[in-house]
Amino acid sequence: MNARRAALVAAAVLGLAVVVVIVVRTPWNVLPEPPGGYTEPDPTAGLGADRIERAEAFAAALRPASLVSIVLGLVVSAVLGLTPLGGRLVRAVAAPLGGRWSTQVLVGVPVLVAIGRLVTLPVSVYAETVRHRYGLSTRGWGLWVRDVAVSVAIGAVLTTFVVLMFLWLVRRAPRTWWAWAGGVAAALVVIGSFLYPVVIEPAFNRFESLPAGELRSDLLLLAEENGTPVQDVLVSDASRRTTALNAYVSGFGSTRRIVVYDTVLAELPDEEIEAIVAHELGHVATDDVLTGTLMGALGAAAAVALLGWLLTSTPLLRGAGADSPGDPRVVPLLLLLVSVGGLLAAPVQNLVSRQIEARADLRALELTGDAEAFIGMQRRLAATNLGDPDPPAAWHWYFASHPTAAHRIAMAEDWQRLEGP
Ligand SMILES: [Zn+2]
Repeated sequence: MNARRAALVAAAVLGLAVVVVIVVRTPWNVLPEPPGGYTEPDPTAGLGADRIERAEAFAAALRPASLVSIVLGLVVSAVLGLTPLGGRLVRAVAAPLGGRWSTQVLVGVPVLVAIGRLVTLPVSVYAETVRHRYGLSTRGWGLWVRDVAVSVAIGAVLTTFVVLMFLWLVRRAPRTWWAWAGGVAAALVVIGSFLYPVVIEPAFNRFESLPAGELRSDLLLLAEENGTPVQDVLVSDASRRTTALNAYVSGFGSTRRIVVYDTVLAELPDEEIEAIVAHELGHVATDDVLTGTLMGALGAAAAVALLGWLLTSTPLLRGAGADSPGDPRVVPLLLLLVSVGGLLAAPVQNLVSRQIEARADLRALELTGDAEAFIGMQRRLAATNLGDPDPPAAWHWYFASHPTAAHRIAMAEDWQRLEGP
């Protein structure tokens, strides 16, 4: 069996493993059907007509921008990756520095990342203007520029590092590189998930412990009852950027943390804060970050094996003007394939995510026993975050990581019916 074929077989086997893990680890059926059937979700989620109109107008202003941004990014990547233009650019920018392969990566990748960001920048400016207009963004333009610059810098450094390692492996092991690179990619996903809360999150927000008091004691007690005691509940200074209400859990092992936006503390009554934190504790109880990381690691390994097949395809290499997968002129093609992979994976990730979110909702209901507070919290989140309670089905399928507010409220009502009065 030649190396190309082996890569394709490995990609198929790993792809199958991803499917098996997804099928087995995803909670497909979260709540048993109550007598009389599931509640039909109320598409208004109980919000007033003015609220719904506002959320729909907000979505109508932002959705086209999201699509334009995706298409624009893809077109530019395709032009650079499928024609010799990108490869020539990588060579040209490194030429004054001597033009070794490593120099081409070190200079070329940041230039490609910056170009990708620059072409979609006008759309980002427009989107931020919309968020300002609707009062969702509290971020001044100075902070916006700083945020964009920091995320581009982080993206450029990480991408350069990964591509450098990738090309080094390709040049070291011209036949079996995809096997080594697949292992490295899986390991990087795990390491990234561990480091994210300590490296990336602090680049944007400051975190402080929730001050001592009744709420803090109640939340720590809730974690205790959940069987997942936590050292600390952190509050992020999200209000510097947004009025949105949110909380999340990130990291695992020693870097695991529950983070609540300061906007939540300012806006929500205690029982609704408990409902939000109970949802996050639900993620902790079922090790959802670990599940996501494992799926991501397997998926990354499968994707790299597929790269082993694609990057040795003569027509693709010829199109990119590269001689071999170890030629730095292959980098724009590599970046294109990675972004296409990301776009294809998104609806699968979101499908799994929505089920996992529903399970965390159920856990929150069981933990607090307070469906009223949960429903109140969902309404308040939808209203404040300008979430469309009834988005177009295709949009929801592709982009939504959470069930709609309408579905989450319907599930809470079903849970109440199952529990009895
Ligand atoms: Zn969640």
